[in-house]
Amino acid sequence: MAHIATLATAAVRPEPEPVRSEPVVVRPERRMNLPLSDPRRILQGMALDLPRTLTPSKVTAFTNCPLAFRYSVIERRPEPPSPHAVKGTLVHAALEGLFWHHVPPGRTPAAARFELERAWKARGSDPEFVALALTDEATADFLVDARGLLDNYFRLEDPNAVHTVGVELGVELEQDGMRLRGIIDRLDIGPGGALTVVDYKTGRAPSERFEHGKMAGVQTYALLCERLLGRAPAEVRLLHLRDPVAISAVPTAQTIRGQRVRTSAVWGAIERACVSEDFRPKVGPLCRFCHFKPSCPAFNAA
Ligand code: SF4
Repeated sequence: MAHIATLATAAVRPEPEPVRSEPVVVRPERRMNLPLSDPRRILQGMALDLPRTLTPSKVTAFTNCPLAFRYSVIERRPEPPSPHAVKGTLVHAALEGLFWHHVPPGRTPAAARFELERAWKARGSDPEFVALALTDEATADFLVDARGLLDNYFRLEDPNAVHTVGVELGVELEQDGMRLRGIIDRLDIGPGGALTVVDYKTGRAPSERFEHGKMAGVQTYALLCERLLGRAPAEVRLLHLRDPVAISAVPTAQTIRGQRVRTSAVWGAIERACVSEDFRPKVGPLCRFCHFKPSCPAFNAA
């Protein structure tokens, strides 16, 4: 609770004092009493190990394809590094630095590029960066694209005009027999103390058809924020830097409750799949990008 008190205090302090944190764990007062018929009772005999935590990306991964989830999250099969993911990490670090090291009116495009260079130097020797094995030319293109994403960020908002109280906030809570975890990219506070959860995306914005699904992950952050600070954010915002476009949603008690039910249902499905070792392939558009396709029974009868 000490962490929560610290964060709550920081939330009313003037700029520039955003906070970063290690995961803050909110535990329920009582653990669930599972009925005898509940399959979680037999977890001791579970064939596969459960993941330690559930995150918004794991919820999405399991929902997209349970078998790919098993290969990646449960079995931890190696996957080739993704330039898009590495670039996303770098741009997130640059934006974190922009808010952490610079005060208004110094949050400028030049400051963001400075933070990008700093993040590049700091992470350039990380194994996932090295594994990309970029040539000099590819490295130059990679950095040009990352700078373009940062420039696009300034087309979506003025970072000098927002009051940020937290960056890269690790939050974690135990509920319904699972440990739900996430990192809030940025937490802003507005007039009257209204909170806004901001999430940066470096991929393309989803089409209208898939927009709702993408917002589901951010609703998890609304749930975590409510449990962490005792009140729900007034707004959750996805900043898609590539397009660039901002997508907003106003969480309600109903959407947060719905998200809690959804994440609990996904966790229950993961538990049952671990007990039965039954993770089914779900063929869809994402198969085109799936590294596990050579092992997938949906594409290999043998
Ligand atoms: S190829 Fe498609 S169905 Fe098979 S594991 Fe990958 S995503 Fe799932």
